[in-house]
Amino acid sequence: MRKYAVPSIMLIVFETVAVVLWQTKDNLFYLFNFSYIGISISLGTFLFIRKYQYARRIVQLLVGLYMMIYLGLIRCENMQIEGFWYYLFTGVFEAATIHYAVAKIFGPLIFGRGWCGYACWTAMVLDFLPYKVPQHPRKKLGWIRYITFSASLVFVGALFLASAGNIEKIMFWAFVIGNLLYYAVGIMLAYAFKDNRAFCKYICPITVFLKPMSYFSLFRIKCDKDKCISCGKCRKICPMNVDVTDNSRKRENGTECILCMECVKHCPKDAL
Ligand code: SF4
Ligand code: SF4
Ligand code: SF4
Repeated sequence: MRKYAVPSIMLIVFETVAVVLWQTKDNLFYLFNFSYIGISISLGTFLFIRKYQYARRIVQLLVGLYMMIYLGLIRCENMQIEGFWYYLFTGVFEAATIHYAVAKIFGPLIFGRGWCGYACWTAMVLDFLPYKVPQHPRKKLGWIRYITFSASLVFVGALFLASAGNIEKIMFWAFVIGNLLYYAVGIMLAYAFKDNRAFCKYICPITVFLKPMSYFSLFRIKCDKDKCISCGKCRKICPMNVDVTDNSRKRENGTECILCMECVKHCPKDAL
């Protein structure tokens, strides 16, 4: 039963968050929301342990579609970074701010960039494209993320400064248009660079939060040097170009690891 410790811990953590938020905010939605996400993630890790090939993709679809369609389109919560700024500026500690706090700011201290591997609805689509393994070396274009990050902040700040009316509606349409733009740019970049995750590596503004926090992540893929034969398969298969055989926190592209487990699955010596 010990091998099922991770899905059990995941379920307990999410249920604890669900119950605490339900009770403190007196809102049953939080119980449903975090229970659903916790059950989806635990199911995925359980299936992974059982060696089911599509375990991660199932979690991505369960969580990504729920967030995009139910929370974003039906409940009209802007879960993109603009929504985070908006709710932060208004001082409302509701779904979008809680979502950012749990998944993208403090959560990565525990589970790194698990969000990017298992829940993001942008990557959920990009991961269907043909370039699962990057075909070329990584480009030095990561600075673009700071521009998109600043643009999102300036956009929402300008709406507040201009005292724009009907801001909730603007936020809803910003969510719809922003997502369509992300998909369009992400798909174009994937084909241009022959790399499904090019958008994540160079453009995504959320990585400005995710990267520094995941540096300290509790969950990390580590290499057993006694077993490793330096075949290089893990490095070749990694969608994020992580040098996973280096156990230090400063390893190359270490803050890019999305915990997809492809390296673990392909290691011929079970060294990861
Ligand atoms: S880097 Fe951005 S787009 Fe890519 S998976 Fe993470 S949050 Fe989603
Ligand atoms: S795939 Fe396994 S054995 Fe090969 S370099 Fe990576 S960790 Fe070492
Ligand atoms: S292949 Fe391994 S090192 Fe690369 S992102 Fe996936 S889990 Fe992280």
